[in-house]
Amino acid sequence: MGNANHLSFFQGVERNFDKASKYTRFEPGILQQIKVCNSVYSMKFPVRIGDKIEVIEAYRVQHSHHKLPCKGGIRYSMDVNQDEVMALAALMTYKCAIVNVPFGGAKGGIKINPKNYSVFELEKITRRYASELVKKNFIGPGIDVPAPDYGTGGREMSWIVDTYASLKPGEVDALGCVTGKPVTQGGVRGRTEATGLGVFYGVREVCNTADDMKRLGMSMGIEGKKVIVQGLGNVGFHAAKFFYDNGAIIVGLAEYEGGIYNEKGLDVYKVVEHRKTTGSILNFPDATNMPTSGATLEQECDILIPAALESVITAENAPRIKAKIIGEGANGPLTPDADEILNAKGVIVVPDMYLNAGGVTVSYFEWLKNLSHVRFGRMDKRFSENQNNHILKTVEELTGKKVTDIERKQLLHGPDEVDLVYSGLEDTMIGSYHEIREALLSLDNTVDMRTAAFTVAINKVGVSYEELGIFP
Ligand code: NAD
Repeated sequence: MGNANHLSFFQGVERNFDKASKYTRFEPGILQQIKVCNSVYSMKFPVRIGDKIEVIEAYRVQHSHHKLPCKGGIRYSMDVNQDEVMALAALMTYKCAIVNVPFGGAKGGIKINPKNYSVFELEKITRRYASELVKKNFIGPGIDVPAPDYGTGGREMSWIVDTYASLKPGEVDALGCVTGKPVTQGGVRGRTEATGLGVFYGVREVCNTADDMKRLGMSMGIEGKKVIVQGLGNVGFHAAKFFYDNGAIIVGLAEYEGGIYNEKGLDVYKVVEHRKTTGSILNFPDATNMPTSGATLEQECDILIPAALESVITAENAPRIKAKIIGEGANGPLTPDADEILNAKGVIVVPDMYLNAGGVTVSYFEWLKNLSHVRFGRMDKRFSENQNNHILKTVEELTGKKVTDIERKQLLHGPDEVDLVYSGLEDTMIGSYHEIREALLSLDNTVDMRTAAFTVAINKVGVSYEELGIFP
């Protein structure tokens, strides 16, 4: 997708990389090796659709092999092309480095509009894509581990793991060949909502950081902040839900059919119900209809979360954006020009490669679960509960006071899988935000947060290449 300077999406990522690499210490060869895509697999395969044969165009790009396996989602969209998949794969490398997930970046895509196919046809396309990946050794728990992305979900991941396992009989770690699986198929609890939850944790951390809030002239905390979310898919819906559940005011929501706005706030659950029954978010009671999704982005708010597609904020509409914080839920929602305009206006742009890393973080947890063949919490939940019980009993005996039944339940609770996953994700998002802030401070705040995040990523990948010893 182009922008004002006619840079492709991948060139845009390269431009951001170059901007940041000036602040690192690596020689040009290492920087070049970090920047390029290591393996690009472009494929075409036939699938019978109805009474015709359709030739399907698809890709898998492994951007970096500095750590294996590679990791990255698979998207189904008519916009899929090699440049886009390369850009998204590169962002995955930097994203994994930022959140300390020990994987190289990858991405896949199939150029289809999934809405044009029956479930049976989608299954045929997905299984064929998976077997093409197996044929070229482009998938496997130690090679390359796909995940859901735009237009795909747990259902597609189940088809992929089933195809992989049937082509690799007896491979004990086969479940780890893909993440984002339903829990019944080896998935981990908390994965579905992970990216949206990560977006929430990340933006909440910005709002909990006194210096940032002072700079924006905003009060601390997430409560009462006015939020607009674009896209009510996996990332957008869950982000909106966690903002809403934690006291933010969702003033605007946008989908491809248009948007709705109400400065007093929208009930996210009711909007989703309304869309289910009417087929559109438009005409929601007491809300004003926005003619387009893009127009919704320009409404009054504190926090804007574009969580649908890339390049939705360009040099053209950036000057009209009113938000003080933009949290990039989607990958690449701002073109580089838009980014510059908004940063110059003093907007805090929380970059995609950090903010939407919740999905890959929890994918990493899912992969660990698959390789260890045991549910998180299975070994220690009961132990923690028994220990908490002993502590509570001792405290009650010593003080002569009894806690209420509700308090008892809360205090005794040992961690379930979902508790551990949320806790690991929260810790990751908070820790990584402060790593980026430290990089910003070390550059005397002279760069934007994306550049600082890039320097954090380049430093980690660069050191990894140096330690591999391939540049003696
Ligand atoms: P999804 O398919 O679940 O949801 C996308 C939503 O956006 C859909 O509801 C779609 O109708 C809507 N949409 C399409 N065009 C729109 C427009 N012009 N305006 C408003 N809404 C529009 O996809 P997703 O998984 O939520 O991914 C969204 C973005 O987040 C993508 O950029 C993806 O790369 C990125 N992302 C996803 C994950 C993940 O775990 N799913 C992780 C990291 C990044």
